[in-house]
Parts: sequence; C-alpha cells; structure tokens
Amino acid sequence: MRTIDHWIGGAPAAGGIGYATVWQPATGHPQAQVALGGRAEVDLAVAAAAKAYDTWSETSLSRRTRVMFALRDLVERHEDELARLITAEHGKTVEDARGEVVRGREVIEFACGIPQLLKGGYSDQVSTGVDSYSLRAPLGVCVGITPFNFPVMVPMWMHPIAIACGNTFVLKPSERDPSPANLVAQLYADAGLPDGVFNVVHGDREAVDVLLDHPDVAAVSFVGSTPIASHVHRRASASGKRVQALGGAKNHAVVLPDANLVDAARQIAGAAYGSAGQRCMAVSVVVAVGSIADELVELLARQAAAIVVGPGDQAGSEMGPVVTAQARERVVAAVTGAREAGAEIVVDGRALRVDGHEDGFFVGPCLVDRVTPTMEAYQQEIFGPVLVVLRAESLDEAIAIINANPYGNGTALFTSGGAAARRFVRGVTVGMIGVNVPVPVPMAYHSFGGWKASLFGDVHAHGTEGVAFYTRGKVVTGRWPEPSEAARSALDFPTA
Ligand code: NAD
Repeated sequence: MRTIDHWIGGAPAAGGIGYATVWQPATGHPQAQVALGGRAEVDLAVAAAAKAYDTWSETSLSRRTRVMFALRDLVERHEDELARLITAEHGKTVEDARGEVVRGREVIEFACGIPQLLKGGYSDQVSTGVDSYSLRAPLGVCVGITPFNFPVMVPMWMHPIAIACGNTFVLKPSERDPSPANLVAQLYADAGLPDGVFNVVHGDREAVDVLLDHPDVAAVSFVGSTPIASHVHRRASASGKRVQALGGAKNHAVVLPDANLVDAARQIAGAAYGSAGQRCMAVSVVVAVGSIADELVELLARQAAAIVVGPGDQAGSEMGPVVTAQARERVVAAVTGAREAGAEIVVDGRALRVDGHEDGFFVGPCLVDRVTPTMEAYQQEIFGPVLVVLRAESLDEAIAIINANPYGNGTALFTSGGAAARRFVRGVTVGMIGVNVPVPVPMAYHSFGGWKASLFGDVHAHGTEGVAFYTRGKVVTGRWPEPSEAARSALDFPTA
C-alpha cells in the first residue's frame, strides 16, 4: 500500500511510531497508510524550522513576497490535482474541493500584500528631538494543527501569513486526509521557499502533544473539535506559547415570516448538506419563526430529497460520503436518538446505499423536525448531513436560543426586514453572521473566528488578526542629538 511520509527540511522523511490507514470514503476501502510522527520526527521538523528561521526571518520583504506570488500561481495551476487529492481522501465533490482550494488561495493572495500589512507607524518629534516608530517582528517556529474537513484551506488560513511574516512553520495535518499537505509542501519548494521554512509532520495526538510542549515552538494555531481545541489551548498556554484554537460549531439559520421562503430553503439546504454537512460553518439548525414552520419544512424536505448522493469524483454527484465509517455511525445514531426523544424524521437518509459503492461511507440527507433544545441531536455537533428544525414564536426567542447554545461560530438570518436584521446582528453572541447569506465565511482579508466554545484564545484566523497573531510589536523611541547638544541627566520621569 502507498505510504505517506512527512516533509522535513525540504524533502520527504520517513519514520514514526506507526501508521494510520487512510480510507477512500467513496469505496470504504483503505487506499494508503500515513506515517504517525513521534518525538523524533517532531524534533527533526522543529529543528529544521528553527534553523531555517535564522535566515528566513532576515530575508527581505521583497523576496518573501515573490515566493508568495509564485506559490499563488502554482496553487492555481495545480488546482485540479489538489481538488482530486481532497476528494479521494475526504470524499467531498471535486467541485466543492475546487472551491476549498480557491478560498485557500485567496489567503495566499492576501499574504502577497505583506509589505503593506507589515508597515509600521512613525511619529516624528514626539518630544523635542525625539522620534518614535513601531514595527512588527516574527515570532519564530509556528505550528498549525488542522482538521480533516478542509485539508487545503484551513492550513492555508495559517501558513502563508505566518511564513510571509518571516516565521517558519510546522504543519500537523489531519491523519484522515494527509496527502494534500505534502503536495502543498512540494509547491512551496517549487516556488523557491528555502528548505526548512515549511515542514509537515503527520501524526495523531502523540505528535500534537510533543508540539504543544516543545520549547522551540513559539506559537500554535489549531482548528478542530471543541474538546481538542480546549486541550490544545490549555497545554500550549501552559508551556508559554501564543495560541489560537478554533473549535466546533452548531450554526443556526433563523427564518422570519417575511423571508422569501423558497430562496431561504434552497440556500439553507445547500449550507446544511454541502460537503455532507462536514463544514464548520454548515447550517445544522433551522429556527423557524412564527407561522411559516410547516411550509418551510416542506420546502426543505423537497430540497433534501432531491440531492444526488454519490462518489465525489462522479459527474452529477452533489453530495459525497462522510469521512469514515465511524462518522457514518455517529450520524445514524444521532438521527435514531432524535426520533426516540420525540422528534419527527421528515427526510431519512440513514439507509441510503449508492449502487456500486455499497461499502462507501454514504449517508443521505436527513431532516429532523420538532427538535427541542434539550434533545441530544440539538446539543451535539453531529458533523454530518443532518438538519434539525426548532420552532420559535419570535425573533427574540430565536436570538435567545442561539445565545444559550455553547457554540458561537456562525449564524444566519433570512428576512426582508432591515430592522430585524440589525437587531439580530447586534443581539447574537456569535462571531460570523450572515444576512440572507447561509455560510458567512469571511474573505481572506477579514478574519475568521467564532465566539464562546468555538474559539479559545482571542485572535481570529487570517486577515489582519492573522498578521497580528504571527508577529509581535516593537516600539522604538530614538534621539539623535546634534554633536553640539549637551546630554542632560534627569532623574524625573520624562515628559514631552
Ligand atoms: P479533531 O478535533 O478530531 O482533530 C483536529 C486535529 O487534532 C487533527 O489534526 C487531529 O490529529 C488532532 N487530534 C485529534 N485528537 C487529538 C487529541 N486527543 N489530542 C491532540 N490532538 C488531537 O477534528 P476533526 O474531526 O478533524 O475535524 C472536525 C471538527 O473540526 C469539527 O468539530 C469542526 O466543527 C471543527 N472545525 C472547526 C473550524 C472552525 O473554524 N472553528 C473549522 C474546521 C473544522
């Protein structure tokens, strides 16, 4: 079977504490094994990154920018290859995977503007003969630990900005779909990035914990589920690192009676079932407000039932499988549990089988109505193609439901009223909000991040917050007296 190795110091590197199987979700068969790095591999990667930092952090902005422009072009040229690698290991449709690559590339495009982003400030004559300026310096070796659901885009929220800022980087991708990270490493090398600036260590919790404790790692960016995000934040903070740890989600779409229901149902179905619901910004809860609930459920059911489920690389497939057999079982159990708790299954994808792919990890779209906030199907992040419907009497009740939920990643409102939209935007305790937009993922030049259990730390990913995360400030106060000026010694605190 094909083996997927690490990428350390500019070349593939074997070794580790064992191997994990990489499955092909559409067939349900193993397709490769990925090396699981241990302490030795992590040490090698961090040492390579620390060595490269000495020269990379001194490399001019112009040269760093040129590498980013070259990488951007290479990612565009290899879009199809990257997308097909994603589809083979993750399962999502190739078209969806292409979208992921484009959104990742947009962060590289943002990083191409790094000279402008790193411009400091200068204040002339802050006191007589004294000037002051501020600059932002890189941190050192930065680490990214990323989830399976966006194996290209989520790491790209991190490494282009970290590297453009003058840091070096060690990526620990998900062990479920590890191949795209190695292709990106090759593209960086082809773009002229010096060896050791970008490294990949594959692995699981063992590699992660060594990275979190490592004395030569300066900063950790994590994206994944909430329990692991919380663990990463605590452990890396305890060892003195800068940490941003993005966690799980339960994203609500609220539909008001004045919304265009047909449009809302179409958009919500896309947001709920796209990528088989395995997006951190997927809509997993609909809150139907007032009298429209039955009509909305009927429209959603029609949309869900019409979705074509099949292998991600097959023309016509709109939704692929989920990532593993365990993920499939989790989805089926959640829907079964909801019915046992009193909810009504309107569209039931639990028994779906795809012809010719009977062993694939497929589960069809599920729509579950009359769910209440006390049910597990509401409280749990199912992370599959399951949309649950809650009913509320008013916009205020819908806002209260969202705010009582422990997660605060994304939410959306469907309405034709500006005043309601404004009240919603101001009232929800959520980081990313859509108004008649179901998946409000911020563009690369804004920052991505949720509130509450969806983010541990205070700095969001990419955009200017990303630049702030991967740099630290220096402020210089300087005086260049004329030779004729006598130096003055004063014991009182200096003022202007
Ligand atoms: P996960 O938490 O299982 O894994 C994420 C990373 O942590 C992987 O690299 C994995 O190897 C590592 N890991 C797993 N268990 C660990 C442990 N016990 N100790 C240390 N490291 C460990 O997440 P996943 O299943 O790959 O991805 C899905 C989750 O990610 C969902 O909860 C989803 O909401 C979340 N997610 C959040 C965002 C966001 O921006 N907030 C974006 C994408 C995905």
